[in-house]
This record gives sequence, C-alpha cells and structure tokens, in this order.
Amino acid sequence: MNDLKTVRENVTFVRQTTPSGVLLVAAAKTRTADEVNAAVDAGIKAIGYNYIQEAERMRPVVSDKVSWHMIGHLQRNKAKKAVQLFDMIETIDSVGLALEVNKQCLVARKKMPVLIEINSGRESNKTGVTPENAEQLIREISALSNLLVQGLMTMGPRLGDPEDARPYFQLTKKVFDQIAKLKIPRVEMRYLSMGMSNSYRIAIEEGATIIRIGSFLFGERN
Ligand SMILES: *Cc1c(COP(=O)(O)O)cnc(C)c1O
Repeated sequence: MNDLKTVRENVTFVRQTTPSGVLLVAAAKTRTADEVNAAVDAGIKAIGYNYIQEAERMRPVVSDKVSWHMIGHLQRNKAKKAVQLFDMIETIDSVGLALEVNKQCLVARKKMPVLIEINSGRESNKTGVTPENAEQLIREISALSNLLVQGLMTMGPRLGDPEDARPYFQLTKKVFDQIAKLKIPRVEMRYLSMGMSNSYRIAIEEGATIIRIGSFLFGERN
C-alpha cells in the first residue's frame, strides 16, 4: 500500500497545477479504500473505475460524496449494474451499448450523463468509435431519452513519450469541435476527457476538461 500522506500530497499538487475548470478523476483501479479515501480527503471530486465488479466491491467502503465515473470498456450484460453504480459512463461506443444503458436507465428512472469514446489511435486502441463514425453514432444516441450526451473521451497511448499522445488528443478535440458546431438537439459538448498520468499536461494544452489520473496519484500499480 502506498503512503496515504503521499497520496494526499500528489492530489494537492495536481489540483494546484491544473486550471480550475479541469475535473480531475482519480483512476482508482486496484487501489485500497484507504488510498481512494485519502485522495477524496485531499479534494478529489470524482473517481473512475474500469470494472463493474471492483466498483461494486468498493461502493460501500469508498466515499459517496464524489461522483463515480465508469472509464473502462462496458459490456452490455453489465449495463444494469453500471446504471446503479455510476454517475457518468465515459465509454459509450456503440448504439447497441447505448440502447441497453438507456433501457436500464428507464427501469431505474435515472438519466445518465455519458461520454462517447473515440478511438483516436485507430488500430492501436481496441475500443471506441472511429472519428469518422462519431457524428452518426451521436445522432442516433441523441434520440435516447434517458441518456445525456455530454462530450467525448479518448485513451491515447498510456506509455512512451507523452508528446506521442498529442496527435491523438488533437484529433479528438477536432471531432469535439465539429460535433459542437452541429448543435445536435439534446447533445452537449461540455466535457472532453483525455490524458492520464504521463500525458495530462499535454491533454490540457489540447483542450481536455476531464483528466483521468491513477499512478501519478497513487504510485505505480503492481
Ligand atoms: C488506468 C486508467 C487511467 C489512468 O492511468 P494512469 O497511467 O495510471 O494514470 C486513465 N484512464 C483509463 C481508462 C484507465 O484505465
């Protein structure tokens, strides 16, 4: 387990060195409840989980004063649980998944803010809609009454030279601006979620308004 004081200091550092309009999501996979709660103590307002099972396990022991973001690939058969657990789903990338989440939202009487995941790396990313198909997907999802499209998310490369991530972020920002200009009813281009520990500064330079950071806050994962 990492030193909780260090976690708090890391959170404070990132908060103090990023613009106030940027939402810092703590990517919490594999971390203990104590580590995540230390991050919340230091001012984290949103946490991200990649797996339903882990989120379910952590839900009772991690603060519910923060908003919970689904940041991993979501399987359709987990949509019901996802709707119960999360306040935002950042990884919608197909009509089929959107339909299932919408259906579960109807059952749960919940409106779910969602981001559309863009496959900005094409062959190197396995998930997300291609930039070319984003508009069509968003138009279709905009008709689903219990989903609120609020922006885009992309992964980009996690390792390597942070500068290598810049073109992926630029491409996603370009799609973001194009979609915003279309003024599709019920679609808001408000959040652009991109950038991880090694690349978040570059992501902010390229227009990110959500950054998702794990190892820089909590230490390297085992
Ligand atoms: C793990 C993860 C992050 C954070 O990665 P770090 O390199 O640990 O900062 C961000 N986004 C997603 C989708 C992740 O799975």
